Amino acid sequence: MHHDVLVIGGGIAGLTAARDLAHGGYRVLVLEARDRLGGRTWWKRFGDTDHHTEMGGTWFDEGTQLNIAREIQRYSLPTVLSPAGQEFRVSLGGRSLARHDQPVPLDVRPDLDKALDHIVDQSRRVTFGSDLDSPDLHDLDIPFSELVAPFSDQLYVGEYLSMWAAFAFGCDPSEVSALQVLTWVAGYDNTTWTLDDAPATKFAQGTASLVEALAQDGGAEIGLSAPVASIVDAGDHVMGITTGGETHKARFALLATPVNTWEDIGLPLPADSPKRAFAAEGLAGHAAKLHALVDDVPEFLMASGWGGPLCWVSEQANSTEAGCWWA
Ligand SMILES: Cc1cc2nc3c(=O)[nH]c(=O)nc-3n(C[C@H](O)[C@H](O)[C@H](O)COP(=O)(O)OP(=O)(O)OC[C@H]3O[C@@H](n4cnc5c(N)ncnc54)[C@H](O)[C@@H]3O)c2cc1C
Repeated sequence: MHHDVLVIGGGIAGLTAARDLAHGGYRVLVLEARDRLGGRTWWKRFGDTDHHTEMGGTWFDEGTQLNIAREIQRYSLPTVLSPAGQEFRVSLGGRSLARHDQPVPLDVRPDLDKALDHIVDQSRRVTFGSDLDSPDLHDLDIPFSELVAPFSDQLYVGEYLSMWAAFAFGCDPSEVSALQVLTWVAGYDNTTWTLDDAPATKFAQGTASLVEALAQDGGAEIGLSAPVASIVDAGDHVMGITTGGETHKARFALLATPVNTWEDIGLPLPADSPKRAFAAEGLAGHAAKLHALVDDVPEFLMASGWGGPLCWVSEQANSTEAGCWWA
């Protein structure tokens, strides 16, 4: 056997695991389905311009996202702040509102605050990163829309919270568990600051700088274009079999692919395994991030809203040759 561990998936999670295992003295092979590393982070040239842009994960907050903060420090990766929004718009209740420092009309703010207080109160019952399958929390495993229903009679409040949940979780608020949203709120120190603001720090040389640093550190072997079709438990070893029929043997396998891929991978899990049930249910998020090159945009525009196909817009960069482009 050439390897001790097969890491399936070359996103940031898989690469971090591979790096740590390699540092621990294990011989590691990363099997990545695509022809590139990084997964849901992808720093890519934008069209035929000289700019690069983030097609996926982009921003973080070093104060609360401690794992990413640790990696930035470890590799001394330069970071940069996205331009702060200066021109705010919000589209709610079918109306386009110029939002200065208030996300909803001023007379509605007390109603929004009541809803936010309720969300924060409930988030205090959740410990970020802990097991959520606790009987004490089962009453919170309801659609997020149900959690905020008592406050959603007020149209602007209902729509603003829907916009936030859809942006953060990539699906309709009726499709995401309140428990998942509350974990997020708990992870941001029991605040809803991501509602009015958002993490704005990003990698100066793109997420690719972290992906490359992780891939080069530790010396794990990397196999690209190697989608794993099944993982077989052969007793004293495991086998990762790719869709192309290649078999890789190792002592252990570590799966670092999104939950929504698990149904497509033959996994050595008992039929009644909770992981199998989780894979069958899947995660509801299916949002897409769109970049467009646009002329005549107000400088440093940020906009959010509910009821249309876009729930959030921000300017990414200014291109003097060709106007502005946003994500
Ligand atoms: C549009 C978008 C915007 C986001 N914005 C932010 C943000 O601003 N801030 C933030 O913190 N997070 C953001 N995220 C989330 C963040 O990008 C992810 O949480 C993170 O990148 C997930 O890393 P991962 O390694 O767990 O999974 P992934 O990056 O999904 O990596 C999994 C890898 O497994 C591979 N794979 C899948 N199936 C197989 C198989 N059968 N065999 C082999 N390989 C396989 C995939 O190709 C992929 O490379 C965003 C995500 C998206 C999609």
